Amino acid sequence: MNLALWLLRAGQSFPDAPAVGRGERILYSYGQFAERVARLAGSLRGRLGLAPGDRVMLAAKNSPDYLDLLYAIWHAGLVAVPANAKLHGAELGYILDHSGARVCFASEGLDAQIASHMPKGAEQLITVGSHYYRQLLAADALAIEPRAGDDLAWLFYTSGTTGRPKGAMLTHRVLSVMSHAYAAEVDAIAPGDPILHAAPLSHGSGLYVVPHVMRAGVNVVPESGAFAPDEIFHLFRAWPRSSMFAAPTMVKRLVDHPGDCDPSKLRTIVWGGAPMYVEDTIKALDRFGPRLAQIYGQGESPMTITTLSRAEIGERDHPRWRERLATAGRPFACVDVMIADAQDRAAPRGEVGEILCRGDSVMPGYWRNPDATAAALRGGWLHTGDLGAFDAEGYLSLKDRSKDLIISGGSNIYPREVEEVLLKHPAVRETAVIGRPDREWGEMVVAFVVGDVDASALDALCLAHIARFKRPKDYVFLDALPKNNYGKILKTELRALDAERARERSGGAAKKSA
Ligand code: AMP
Repeated sequence: MNLALWLLRAGQSFPDAPAVGRGERILYSYGQFAERVARLAGSLRGRLGLAPGDRVMLAAKNSPDYLDLLYAIWHAGLVAVPANAKLHGAELGYILDHSGARVCFASEGLDAQIASHMPKGAEQLITVGSHYYRQLLAADALAIEPRAGDDLAWLFYTSGTTGRPKGAMLTHRVLSVMSHAYAAEVDAIAPGDPILHAAPLSHGSGLYVVPHVMRAGVNVVPESGAFAPDEIFHLFRAWPRSSMFAAPTMVKRLVDHPGDCDPSKLRTIVWGGAPMYVEDTIKALDRFGPRLAQIYGQGESPMTITTLSRAEIGERDHPRWRERLATAGRPFACVDVMIADAQDRAAPRGEVGEILCRGDSVMPGYWRNPDATAAALRGGWLHTGDLGAFDAEGYLSLKDRSKDLIISGGSNIYPREVEEVLLKHPAVRETAVIGRPDREWGEMVVAFVVGDVDASALDALCLAHIARFKRPKDYVFLDALPKNNYGKILKTELRALDAERARERSGGAAKKSA
């Protein structure tokens, strides 16, 4: 079934209901949205000559046009390739080339960057909002192209905290199962319920469009097209019953923002994509009330590995409330999740191992990358590269990416555990813990800290909360931590920075001794 059918149906059943908003305004209804999409789809197939299965890249900032394009691509039986608008022109050029997209829609400003990196196979670069683009909306409406569950809908290029991005193949079935899982287990959506798209539509927030169209919710793009806490608070007032997806750094900024916010108007803030520390979750609960939900997923199984519900997060009087807050919740009904040892055998309950996942929301593979596909899906399970353990009640605690695990003196140290402790200090704004290669111990724990605090206070805090061997042996104070375009902390860069500092120190020491 083609995902775009949900839009057609909403257009028939709720033609006058609001579908798309910009800032505080309703921009168009479901009837208008469905019509725009069918016409734009007509241009994609007719004027641009694309055939079912062809890829179309979107390198655009958040805007209502993005929603038209996404649905027109599906309606026409094509495959969307959304790419983060904050990427460098060369990186966008790589995705364009790798996906084999013949047409690329780009926001004004990005078009010029891409133009200088256009690969051979890409035929057309169209600036969103240009005169030519507007003409595409005037074509005759196209009948929806039938699609099977296995047909591709979205090539989801991974955020790539290391190496080249890979295109996770998301089919119509994957996105359909994901949408049902979301509506059933994360946030029930009634017709007219708004979702604010403050995170990039090319990634986290774009996935949320699909269940909201399924249930005839309103997709609202902030006027600024991005995330600004002042504007978000304003939109919470303008759009009662709003939900939004926010990365933990965004949640933190909302919590710290002094602006006026009446949380009773808010439906749900869903966080995911990176860990949220318990102390930060509690602060968010204090500010917004029991209106938070967590999702753990990855591009390869979008929004669908585990979830910690609003009820569980808000249940302060539950005896295990704090312990649960430190977890990513329990598996979604649509997937099977297991913890595996190094030989891919099921690890005993409670033991830490790699998190594996299988089910209808898992991608069938990476686009044009059979080696990476075979490695990621070996034995029929998605190997997430994340480490975790199930507790007796089936809650999954996420440890770290396997490559971030620190092994010091033969003991495993999970950076997140140390980071949780450091964040208890009120002056610590952000922290990231890494392993520094060490001749004696193999690796030594090093903490990067943003905040006005000294190392001795942090050391005392660690002594009070965790085993001595897990304490950082060195603290490095920075003004900010390096992050990728999605706000994820780049531990690879911290390791490189740490190595650089070590080289400088040994250079200095060599000079001194000379
Ligand atoms: P991406 O494919 O860019 O969405 O990144 C997925 C990765 O983000 C996962 O493999 C995890 O390492 C991390 N992640 C996603 N959700 C969570 C969460 N709720 N808590 C901690 N880490 C998360």
